[in-house]
Amino acid sequence: MLVIGAGIAGASVAAKLAADMRVAILEQEMHPGYHSTGRSAALYSEIYGPAQVRVLTRASRDFYRAPPAGFNASPLINARGALYIATHAQTPQLERFASLPDVAPAIVPVAGDRICELSPLLRRGYAAAAILEGDSMDIDVHALHSGYLRIARGGSGRLVTDAQVQRLDFTAGMWRAQTPRAVFSAPIVVNAAGAWADSVGSMAGVGSRRIQPFRRTALTVDAPDIAGLSTSPMTIDIDEQFYWKPDAGRLLISLAEETPVPAGDVQPEELDVALAVERVEAASTLQIHRIQHTWAGLRSFAPDRLPVIGFTSSADGFFWLAGQGGYGIQTAPAVARLAAALIARRAIPEDLLRLGLDVAALSPDRQYLL
Ligand SMILES: Cc1cc2nc3c(=O)[nH]c(=O)nc-3n(C[C@H](O)[C@H](O)[C@H](O)COP(=O)(O)OP(=O)(O)OC[C@H]3O[C@@H](n4cnc5c(N)ncnc54)[C@H](O)[C@@H]3O)c2cc1C
Repeated sequence: MLVIGAGIAGASVAAKLAADMRVAILEQEMHPGYHSTGRSAALYSEIYGPAQVRVLTRASRDFYRAPPAGFNASPLINARGALYIATHAQTPQLERFASLPDVAPAIVPVAGDRICELSPLLRRGYAAAAILEGDSMDIDVHALHSGYLRIARGGSGRLVTDAQVQRLDFTAGMWRAQTPRAVFSAPIVVNAAGAWADSVGSMAGVGSRRIQPFRRTALTVDAPDIAGLSTSPMTIDIDEQFYWKPDAGRLLISLAEETPVPAGDVQPEELDVALAVERVEAASTLQIHRIQHTWAGLRSFAPDRLPVIGFTSSADGFFWLAGQGGYGIQTAPAVARLAAALIARRAIPEDLLRLGLDVAALSPDRQYLL
């Protein structure tokens, strides 16, 4: 099997299948994780994203809480919590969201002074209502990603970096991927190319799934010395106009924007950084004098905002594993199990179905219902 892309999607599916088949992961960059996987906010929230994404996140919980023996020496997750806040005008959105049948049991409503007790940076009077997801967690993305890559390479697998797939042909039951390093062949190819997934689909002649990359900007600043700040939950505007979260002695801030851009090595725009600072300063008591680090990354979505997972019916052996949007890290363990089952033509894991997974809703053959 050839896996195009060594981000979290490609690494995790390769790890799941390395014991069953020979796997080569082909990565265009020198470093796997250079793109979206290395640029995330590292949050695990079971109430974030559309319903099918929430199913995939919940189905990943056991993996995060108890990774297989030897996966990683230290825990993959740490307690964080997520506080979704609303101004007076945003309260109806918050209430609607909080009453969703699978969201309601995972949260507690928070009101009055308790909101600022939980989020000590929040400006008094800014949030009229909030909900707390106490079980939300920080993910050690590097440990997760390198754990998967290690397993993938420990089996029959190999990771080939600096190997951009530039041509893909299917002849006599084999996919041939041409890279500057060598030509690789296998009967199955997995398109885990993130923001480039549509280009890879077109290169293979299976067409596009209209997966659009969107830029999102993040920055870190010094965290003020406030009691309880380092262990306080991530604070998220209910309409995703901004968020902040304590991060190893700093604060990670994002504008949480979605700007459509072509696939590439995106960089932050000055205006977006300024807007993030403005919004966070308006909602908090923070005065940002110095920015430590800024970056931007891509979140790639299909038009219905669900991941695209499965073999296409338009070509033999071409598997889509793309469109993970803003949830590709937190859902990776369950997505990898689902993808591995589909690729190996095994039964879908029971727990995924029990949680409400709709495999057809993620299929690359689906019509986008908008
Ligand atoms: C600012 C930000 C915050 C985020 N926060 C979170 C969060 O808190 N929680 C969460 O779960 N998710 C979050 N995400 C989303 C998450 O980062 C992505 O969903 C996930 O990383 C996607 O993984 P991927 O493997 O599909 O893509 P990528 O990591 O981009 O990997 C795709 C790889 O394919 C390679 N490639 C492409 N074309 C070719 C080719 N032709 N040949 C060879 N290689 C190729 C690329 O070089 C790349 O390495 C965030 C994203 C951003 C930008």
